[in-house]
Amino acid sequence: MDENETIYHELGVVPALNAAGTKTTFGGGKMREEAADAMREAANSSADISELQAQASKLIQEVTGAEAGLVTTGASSGLTLAAAACIAGDDFGVMERLPNTEGVADEIVIPRVQRNVYDHALRVSGASIVDVGDSSRTLGMTATNVEPWQIADAITEDTAAVACLPRPSTEISVSMVTEVAHEHDVPVILDAAGSLPPHTNLSKFIGMGVDIVSFSGGKAIRAPQSTGFLAGNRDLIRSAALQQLDMGEIANMWDPPEALFNVDDLPGVPRHGIGRGFKVGPENLVGFIRALELFSQEDLDEVRESWVNEANRIKSKLDELEGISVTIADEYSDRTNEVTIRGDVLPSIILTVDAEETGISAETIVDRFKNEDPRILVKTYMAKDGQFYITPLSINEKEADYIIETLSSYLPS
Ligand SMILES: *Cc1c(COP(=O)(O)O)cnc(C)c1O
Repeated sequence: MDENETIYHELGVVPALNAAGTKTTFGGGKMREEAADAMREAANSSADISELQAQASKLIQEVTGAEAGLVTTGASSGLTLAAAACIAGDDFGVMERLPNTEGVADEIVIPRVQRNVYDHALRVSGASIVDVGDSSRTLGMTATNVEPWQIADAITEDTAAVACLPRPSTEISVSMVTEVAHEHDVPVILDAAGSLPPHTNLSKFIGMGVDIVSFSGGKAIRAPQSTGFLAGNRDLIRSAALQQLDMGEIANMWDPPEALFNVDDLPGVPRHGIGRGFKVGPENLVGFIRALELFSQEDLDEVRESWVNEANRIKSKLDELEGISVTIADEYSDRTNEVTIRGDVLPSIILTVDAEETGISAETIVDRFKNEDPRILVKTYMAKDGQFYITPLSINEKEADYIIETLSSYLPS
Protein backbone atom coordinates (compact mmCIF):
# COMPACT_ATOMS: atom_id res chain seq x y z
CA MET A 1 0.00 0.00 0.00
CA ASP A 2 1.16 3.47 -0.86
CA GLU A 3 2.19 5.21 2.34
CA ASN A 4 -0.05 8.12 1.37
CA GLU A 5 -3.02 5.77 1.02
CA THR A 6 -5.33 6.29 3.98
CA ILE A 7 -8.43 4.64 5.36
CA TYR A 8 -10.38 7.48 3.77
CA HIS A 9 -9.00 6.60 0.32
CA GLU A 10 -9.99 3.01 0.90
CA LEU A 11 -13.54 4.24 1.42
CA GLY A 12 -13.42 6.37 -1.70
CA VAL A 13 -13.10 9.63 0.25
CA VAL A 14 -10.30 12.15 -0.18
CA PRO A 15 -8.84 13.09 3.24
CA ALA A 16 -8.50 16.73 4.20
CA LEU A 17 -6.22 19.02 6.20
CA ASN A 18 -8.29 21.33 8.30
CA ALA A 19 -6.31 24.55 8.25
CA ALA A 20 -9.54 26.40 9.12
CA GLY A 21 -9.02 25.56 12.78
CA THR A 22 -11.96 23.81 14.41
CA LYS A 23 -14.60 24.04 11.70
CA THR A 24 -17.03 21.24 12.50
CA THR A 25 -17.98 20.47 8.89
CA PHE A 26 -14.33 19.55 8.30
CA GLY A 27 -14.05 17.32 11.35
CA GLY A 28 -13.22 20.01 13.91
CA GLY A 29 -9.97 19.95 15.87
CA LYS A 30 -7.63 17.07 15.11
CA MET A 31 -8.17 14.41 17.77
CA ARG A 32 -5.29 13.98 20.21
CA GLU A 33 -3.30 10.82 19.58
CA GLU A 34 -3.67 9.90 23.24
CA ALA A 35 -7.46 10.08 22.85
CA ALA A 36 -7.36 7.86 19.76
CA ASP A 37 -5.14 5.34 21.60
CA ALA A 38 -7.50 5.36 24.57
CA MET A 39 -10.48 4.70 22.27
CA ARG A 40 -8.75 1.74 20.65
CA GLU A 41 -8.01 0.30 24.08
CA ALA A 42 -11.58 0.91 25.27
CA ALA A 43 -12.89 -0.98 22.23
CA ASN A 44 -11.26 -4.16 23.57
CA SER A 45 -13.91 -4.57 26.23
CA SER A 46 -17.26 -3.18 27.37
CA ALA A 47 -18.15 -0.95 30.28
CA ASP A 48 -21.24 0.44 31.91
CA ILE A 49 -21.89 3.83 30.32
CA SER A 50 -23.27 5.26 33.60
CA GLU A 51 -20.04 4.43 35.41
CA LEU A 52 -17.99 6.15 32.73
CA GLN A 53 -20.35 9.15 32.83
CA ALA A 54 -19.90 9.31 36.62
CA GLN A 55 -16.11 9.38 36.23
CA ALA A 56 -16.43 12.03 33.53
CA SER A 57 -18.70 14.05 35.82
CA LYS A 58 -15.96 14.06 38.49
CA LEU A 59 -13.39 15.27 35.97
CA ILE A 60 -15.77 17.97 34.68
CA GLN A 61 -16.37 19.10 38.29
CA GLU A 62 -12.63 19.34 38.84
CA VAL A 63 -11.84 21.33 35.72
CA THR A 64 -14.89 23.62 35.69
CA GLY A 65 -15.72 24.05 39.36
CA ALA A 66 -19.31 23.03 38.55
CA GLU A 67 -21.32 20.73 40.81
CA ALA A 68 -21.60 18.06 38.09
CA GLY A 69 -21.07 17.30 34.43
CA LEU A 70 -22.34 15.11 31.63
CA VAL A 71 -20.67 14.08 28.39
CA THR A 72 -22.85 14.69 25.34
CA THR A 73 -22.53 14.00 21.63
CA GLY A 74 -21.51 17.63 21.06
CA ALA A 75 -22.39 21.10 22.28
CA SER A 76 -25.47 21.04 20.08
CA SER A 77 -27.04 18.00 21.76
CA GLY A 78 -25.84 19.51 25.05
CA LEU A 79 -28.10 22.50 24.36
CA THR A 80 -31.05 20.19 23.67
CA LEU A 81 -30.44 18.31 26.93
CA ALA A 82 -29.91 21.55 28.88
CA ALA A 83 -33.23 22.89 27.59
CA ALA A 84 -34.97 19.58 28.37
CA ALA A 85 -33.49 19.68 31.89
CA CYS A 86 -34.73 23.24 32.46
CA ILE A 87 -38.21 22.28 31.25
CA ALA A 88 -38.59 18.89 32.99
CA GLY A 89 -36.49 19.30 36.15
CA ASP A 90 -37.01 16.04 38.04
CA ASP A 91 -40.56 15.46 36.79
CA PHE A 92 -40.57 12.00 35.17
CA GLY A 93 -43.96 12.66 33.57
CA VAL A 94 -42.67 15.71 31.73
CA MET A 95 -39.48 13.86 30.73
CA GLU A 96 -41.65 11.17 29.21
CA ARG A 97 -43.86 13.63 27.32
CA LEU A 98 -41.17 15.86 25.79
CA PRO A 99 -41.09 17.34 23.18
CA ASN A 100 -44.76 17.82 24.06
CA THR A 101 -44.70 20.70 26.53
CA GLU A 102 -48.41 21.19 27.06
CA GLY A 103 -49.05 22.61 30.49
CA VAL A 104 -45.40 23.25 31.42
CA ALA A 105 -43.21 26.33 31.23
CA ASP A 106 -41.32 25.90 27.98
CA GLU A 107 -40.12 29.34 26.86
CA ILE A 108 -36.45 30.19 26.52
CA VAL A 109 -35.65 33.89 26.50
CA ILE A 110 -32.70 34.92 24.27
CA PRO A 111 -31.26 38.36 23.46
CA ARG A 112 -32.37 38.90 19.85
CA VAL A 113 -28.90 39.88 18.69
CA GLN A 114 -27.73 36.39 19.71
CA ARG A 115 -30.34 34.38 17.80
CA ASN A 116 -28.41 31.86 15.70
CA VAL A 117 -28.55 28.52 13.90
CA TYR A 118 -28.18 26.59 17.18
CA ASP A 119 -31.59 27.87 18.37
CA HIS A 120 -32.86 24.72 16.72
CA ALA A 121 -30.91 22.60 19.21
CA LEU A 122 -32.83 24.28 22.04
CA ARG A 123 -36.15 23.88 20.23
CA VAL A 124 -35.63 20.13 19.71
CA SER A 125 -36.52 19.75 23.42
CA GLY A 126 -39.97 21.20 22.77
CA ALA A 127 -38.96 24.68 23.93
CA SER A 128 -40.08 27.80 22.13
CA ILE A 129 -37.82 30.82 21.80
CA VAL A 130 -38.81 34.27 22.97
CA ASP A 131 -36.38 36.87 21.75
CA VAL A 132 -35.87 40.19 23.38
CA GLY A 133 -34.13 43.47 22.58
CA ASP A 134 -32.71 44.26 19.14
CA SER A 135 -29.45 44.82 17.27
CA SER A 136 -29.22 48.60 17.63
CA ARG A 137 -25.90 48.65 19.46
CA THR A 138 -24.35 46.32 16.90
CA LEU A 139 -25.64 48.66 14.19
CA GLY A 140 -24.27 51.71 15.98
CA MET A 141 -27.68 53.18 16.77
CA THR A 142 -28.10 53.18 20.52
CA ALA A 143 -26.43 52.29 23.79
CA THR A 144 -27.36 48.63 24.21
CA ASN A 145 -28.76 45.62 22.36
CA VAL A 146 -30.84 44.61 25.34
CA GLU A 147 -31.70 46.32 28.61
CA PRO A 148 -31.89 44.27 31.83
CA TRP A 149 -35.53 45.33 32.25
CA GLN A 150 -36.35 43.95 28.79
CA ILE A 151 -35.10 40.52 29.84
CA ALA A 152 -36.99 40.80 33.13
CA ASP A 153 -40.13 41.81 31.26
CA ALA A 154 -39.89 38.76 28.96
CA ILE A 155 -39.69 36.36 31.93
CA THR A 156 -43.14 35.05 32.83
CA GLU A 157 -44.57 31.91 34.42
CA ASP A 158 -44.05 30.23 31.01
CA THR A 159 -40.28 30.80 31.10
CA ALA A 160 -38.08 27.71 31.51
CA ALA A 161 -34.69 29.38 31.03
CA VAL A 162 -32.75 32.33 29.67
CA ALA A 163 -30.05 31.43 27.13
CA CYS A 164 -27.08 33.36 25.83
CA LEU A 165 -23.60 33.10 24.30
CA PRO A 166 -20.27 34.53 25.47
CA ARG A 167 -19.73 36.61 22.31
CA PRO A 168 -18.09 39.98 22.95
CA SER A 169 -19.11 41.19 19.46
CA THR A 170 -22.79 41.05 20.44
CA GLU A 171 -22.16 43.16 23.54
CA ILE A 172 -24.33 40.98 25.71
CA SER A 173 -22.98 40.66 29.24
CA VAL A 174 -23.27 37.11 30.53
CA SER A 175 -23.19 38.34 34.13
CA MET A 176 -25.96 40.86 33.49
CA VAL A 177 -28.15 38.17 31.89
CA THR A 178 -27.40 35.79 34.77
CA GLU A 179 -28.19 38.39 37.40
CA VAL A 180 -31.58 39.26 35.89
CA ALA A 181 -32.50 35.59 35.33
CA HIS A 182 -31.62 34.70 38.91
CA GLU A 183 -33.59 37.64 40.31
CA HIS A 184 -36.56 35.90 38.67
CA ASP A 185 -35.54 32.36 39.72
CA VAL A 186 -34.91 31.21 36.17
CA PRO A 187 -31.80 29.20 35.17
CA VAL A 188 -29.30 30.34 32.53
CA ILE A 189 -28.11 28.12 29.67
CA LEU A 190 -24.86 29.22 28.05
CA ASP A 191 -23.68 28.03 24.64
CA ALA A 192 -19.92 28.08 25.14
CA ALA A 193 -19.29 25.55 22.35
CA GLY A 194 -16.59 27.53 20.60
CA SER A 195 -15.30 29.51 23.58
CA LEU A 196 -12.11 27.53 24.23
CA PRO A 197 -9.29 28.50 24.40
CA PRO A 198 -8.55 30.30 26.67
CA HIS A 199 -8.55 27.34 29.01
CA THR A 200 -9.70 29.58 31.86
CA ASN A 201 -13.15 29.70 30.21
CA LEU A 202 -13.65 26.10 31.42
CA SER A 203 -14.40 27.53 34.87
CA LYS A 204 -15.11 31.17 34.07
CA PHE A 205 -18.82 30.93 33.22
CA ILE A 206 -19.61 28.60 36.11
CA GLY A 207 -17.80 31.12 38.32
CA MET A 208 -20.11 33.82 36.94
CA GLY A 209 -23.09 31.85 38.23
CA VAL A 210 -24.32 30.37 34.93
CA ASP A 211 -26.46 27.31 35.75
CA ILE A 212 -25.60 25.07 32.81
CA VAL A 213 -22.89 25.48 30.18
CA SER A 214 -22.51 23.49 26.95
CA PHE A 215 -19.02 23.01 25.46
CA SER A 216 -17.78 21.17 22.35
CA GLY A 217 -15.31 18.31 22.79
CA GLY A 218 -14.44 18.16 19.11
CA LYS A 219 -13.04 21.68 18.81
CA ALA A 220 -10.02 22.94 20.76
CA ILE A 221 -10.17 20.19 23.40
CA ARG A 222 -9.41 17.81 20.53
CA ALA A 223 -11.57 15.02 21.91
CA PRO A 224 -13.55 12.79 19.51
CA GLN A 225 -15.52 15.04 17.15
CA SER A 226 -18.87 13.63 18.26
CA THR A 227 -18.45 14.64 21.89
CA GLY A 228 -19.12 17.66 24.05
CA PHE A 229 -20.13 18.23 27.63
CA LEU A 230 -22.44 20.01 29.99
CA ALA A 231 -21.19 21.48 33.25
CA GLY A 232 -23.53 22.90 35.82
CA ASN A 233 -25.92 22.69 38.66
CA ARG A 234 -26.33 19.15 40.11
CA ASP A 235 -30.12 18.99 39.65
CA LEU A 236 -30.05 20.13 36.03
CA ILE A 237 -27.23 17.74 35.15
CA ARG A 238 -29.11 14.92 36.84
CA SER A 239 -32.20 15.71 34.77
CA ALA A 240 -30.10 15.83 31.57
CA ALA A 241 -28.49 12.47 32.44
CA LEU A 242 -31.87 10.85 33.17
CA GLN A 243 -33.09 12.02 29.75
CA GLN A 244 -29.97 10.85 27.89
CA LEU A 245 -29.05 7.44 29.31
CA ASP A 246 -30.58 4.15 28.26
CA MET A 247 -33.31 3.41 30.80
CA GLY A 248 -34.03 -0.23 30.04
CA GLU A 249 -33.70 -0.88 33.76
CA ILE A 250 -35.71 -2.77 36.37
CA ALA A 251 -36.64 -0.52 39.27
CA ASN A 252 -35.38 -2.46 42.27
CA MET A 253 -32.25 -3.60 40.42
CA TRP A 254 -31.31 -0.16 39.16
CA ASP A 255 -28.06 0.82 40.79
CA PRO A 256 -26.57 3.82 38.98
CA PRO A 257 -23.46 5.54 40.38
CA GLU A 258 -24.25 8.09 43.06
CA ALA A 259 -22.15 10.69 41.33
CA LEU A 260 -24.87 10.74 38.67
CA PHE A 261 -28.05 10.21 40.70
CA ASN A 262 -29.08 9.11 44.10
CA VAL A 263 -31.81 6.55 43.44
CA ASP A 264 -33.35 7.16 46.86
CA ASP A 265 -34.39 10.65 45.73
CA LEU A 266 -36.19 9.32 42.65
CA PRO A 267 -39.71 7.92 42.35
CA GLY A 268 -38.57 4.98 40.18
CA VAL A 269 -36.88 4.46 36.84
CA PRO A 270 -37.79 6.92 34.11
CA ARG A 271 -38.35 5.64 30.59
CA HIS A 272 -36.27 6.68 27.59
CA GLY A 273 -35.99 10.43 27.42
CA ILE A 274 -35.66 12.88 24.58
CA GLY A 275 -31.86 12.51 24.60
CA ARG A 276 -31.78 8.72 24.24
CA GLY A 277 -30.66 9.15 20.64
CA PHE A 278 -27.72 11.24 21.87
CA LYS A 279 -26.10 8.54 23.98
CA VAL A 280 -22.32 8.61 24.15
CA GLY A 281 -20.62 5.26 23.59
CA PRO A 282 -17.87 3.93 25.89
CA GLU A 283 -15.06 4.55 23.39
CA ASN A 284 -16.15 8.14 22.92
CA LEU A 285 -16.43 8.61 26.68
CA VAL A 286 -12.93 7.24 27.21
CA GLY A 287 -11.46 9.33 24.38
CA PHE A 288 -13.25 12.40 25.70
CA ILE A 289 -12.01 11.92 29.27
CA ARG A 290 -8.41 11.50 28.12
CA ALA A 291 -8.59 14.58 25.89
CA LEU A 292 -10.21 16.79 28.55
CA GLU A 293 -7.57 15.72 31.09
CA LEU A 294 -4.81 16.72 28.71
CA PHE A 295 -6.47 19.96 27.61
CA SER A 296 -7.08 21.04 31.20
CA GLN A 297 -3.43 20.41 32.10
CA GLU A 298 -2.10 22.50 29.21
CA ASP A 299 -0.51 25.81 29.99
CA LEU A 300 -2.13 28.34 27.64
CA ASP A 301 0.98 30.53 27.50
CA GLU A 302 3.08 27.56 26.41
CA VAL A 303 0.53 26.39 23.87
CA ARG A 304 0.20 29.91 22.53
CA GLU A 305 3.93 30.26 22.23
CA SER A 306 4.02 27.16 20.04
CA TRP A 307 1.13 28.45 17.89
CA VAL A 308 2.74 31.86 17.54
CA ASN A 309 6.13 30.32 16.66
CA GLU A 310 4.53 28.05 14.09
CA ALA A 311 2.52 30.97 12.65
CA ASN A 312 5.75 32.97 12.30
CA ARG A 313 7.54 30.02 10.70
CA ILE A 314 4.70 29.64 8.18
CA LYS A 315 4.68 33.39 7.55
CA SER A 316 8.41 33.53 6.85
CA LYS A 317 8.08 30.77 4.25
CA LEU A 318 5.03 32.41 2.67
CA ASP A 319 6.88 35.75 2.56
CA GLU A 320 9.10 34.26 -0.13
CA LEU A 321 6.14 33.88 -2.50
CA GLU A 322 5.67 36.74 -4.98
CA GLY A 323 2.26 38.35 -5.02
CA ILE A 324 1.14 36.97 -1.64
CA SER A 325 1.33 39.25 1.38
CA VAL A 326 1.00 37.78 4.80
CA THR A 327 -0.01 39.15 8.19
CA ILE A 328 -0.69 37.45 11.47
CA ALA A 329 -3.81 38.49 13.35
CA ASP A 330 -2.83 37.91 16.91
CA GLU A 331 -4.94 39.96 19.23
CA TYR A 332 -4.79 38.61 22.71
CA SER A 333 -7.12 40.94 24.42
CA ASP A 334 -10.09 40.87 26.70
CA ARG A 335 -12.45 42.73 24.47
CA THR A 336 -15.25 43.29 26.95
CA ASN A 337 -13.28 42.94 30.18
CA GLU A 338 -15.70 40.11 30.81
CA VAL A 339 -14.81 37.31 28.43
CA THR A 340 -11.98 36.49 26.10
CA ILE A 341 -12.88 34.08 23.34
CA ARG A 342 -11.00 31.83 21.03
CA GLY A 343 -10.61 34.26 18.18
CA ASP A 344 -8.61 36.53 20.45
CA VAL A 345 -6.24 33.79 21.51
CA LEU A 346 -5.47 31.78 18.41
CA PRO A 347 -3.22 33.36 15.80
CA SER A 348 -4.67 33.45 12.27
CA ILE A 349 -2.39 33.75 9.26
CA ILE A 350 -4.03 36.05 6.73
CA LEU A 351 -2.92 35.69 3.11
CA THR A 352 -3.75 38.51 0.72
CA VAL A 353 -3.45 37.60 -2.93
CA ASP A 354 -2.45 40.16 -5.56
CA ALA A 355 -4.23 38.46 -8.45
CA GLU A 356 -2.62 40.72 -11.05
CA GLU A 357 0.83 39.66 -9.98
CA THR A 358 0.05 35.98 -9.39
CA GLY A 359 -2.43 35.52 -12.23
CA ILE A 360 -4.70 33.61 -9.85
CA SER A 361 -7.40 34.90 -7.52
CA ALA A 362 -7.86 33.97 -3.87
CA GLU A 363 -11.17 32.34 -4.83
CA THR A 364 -9.49 30.12 -7.42
CA ILE A 365 -6.75 29.21 -4.94
CA VAL A 366 -9.18 28.05 -2.25
CA ASP A 367 -11.14 26.19 -4.88
CA ARG A 368 -8.05 24.37 -6.16
CA PHE A 369 -7.00 23.66 -2.55
CA LYS A 370 -10.29 21.82 -2.07
CA ASN A 371 -9.55 19.54 -5.00
CA GLU A 372 -6.08 18.47 -3.87
CA ASP A 373 -5.33 15.12 -2.27
CA PRO A 374 -5.29 15.62 0.65
CA ARG A 375 -7.78 18.45 0.33
CA ILE A 376 -6.72 21.73 1.93
CA LEU A 377 -9.48 23.51 3.82
CA VAL A 378 -8.96 27.13 4.81
CA LYS A 379 -11.13 29.95 6.14
CA THR A 380 -12.72 31.30 3.01
CA TYR A 381 -15.21 33.94 4.07
CA MET A 382 -12.96 36.78 2.83
CA ALA A 383 -12.01 35.05 -0.42
CA LYS A 384 -14.02 37.40 -2.65
CA ASP A 385 -11.97 40.25 -1.18
CA GLY A 386 -8.74 38.50 -2.12
CA GLN A 387 -7.95 36.97 1.28
CA PHE A 388 -8.00 33.63 3.01
CA TYR A 389 -6.93 32.55 6.48
CA ILE A 390 -5.14 29.56 7.91
CA THR A 391 -4.55 28.69 11.54
CA PRO A 392 -1.96 26.30 13.00
CA LEU A 393 -4.35 24.66 15.50
CA SER A 394 -5.21 21.48 13.60
CA ILE A 395 -2.21 21.02 11.29
CA ASN A 396 1.36 19.95 12.00
CA GLU A 397 4.56 21.37 10.47
CA LYS A 398 4.67 18.83 7.67
CA GLU A 399 1.08 19.61 6.75
CA ALA A 400 1.74 23.34 6.84
CA ASP A 401 4.68 22.82 4.49
CA TYR A 402 2.48 20.82 2.10
CA ILE A 403 0.04 23.76 2.02
CA ILE A 404 2.86 26.21 1.26
CA GLU A 405 4.31 23.96 -1.47
CA THR A 406 0.89 23.49 -3.03
CA LEU A 407 0.27 27.23 -3.06
CA SER A 408 3.68 27.85 -4.52
CA SER A 409 2.93 25.40 -7.37
CA TYR A 410 -0.06 27.58 -8.41
CA LEU A 411 2.10 30.67 -8.77
CA PRO A 412 4.21 31.70 -11.81
CA SER A 413 7.79 30.52 -11.29
C1 LIG B 1 -19.62 24.60 17.19
C2 LIG B 1 -20.73 25.29 17.86
C3 LIG B 1 -21.86 24.55 18.30
C4 LIG B 1 -22.04 23.09 18.02
O1 LIG B 1 -21.07 22.30 18.64
P1 LIG B 1 -20.95 20.74 18.34
O2 LIG B 1 -20.01 20.27 19.41
O3 LIG B 1 -20.44 20.58 16.97
O4 LIG B 1 -22.33 20.16 18.50
C5 LIG B 1 -22.86 25.23 18.97
N1 LIG B 1 -22.77 26.57 19.20
C6 LIG B 1 -21.70 27.30 18.81
C7 LIG B 1 -21.65 28.77 19.12
C8 LIG B 1 -20.64 26.69 18.12
O5 LIG B 1 -19.58 27.42 17.75
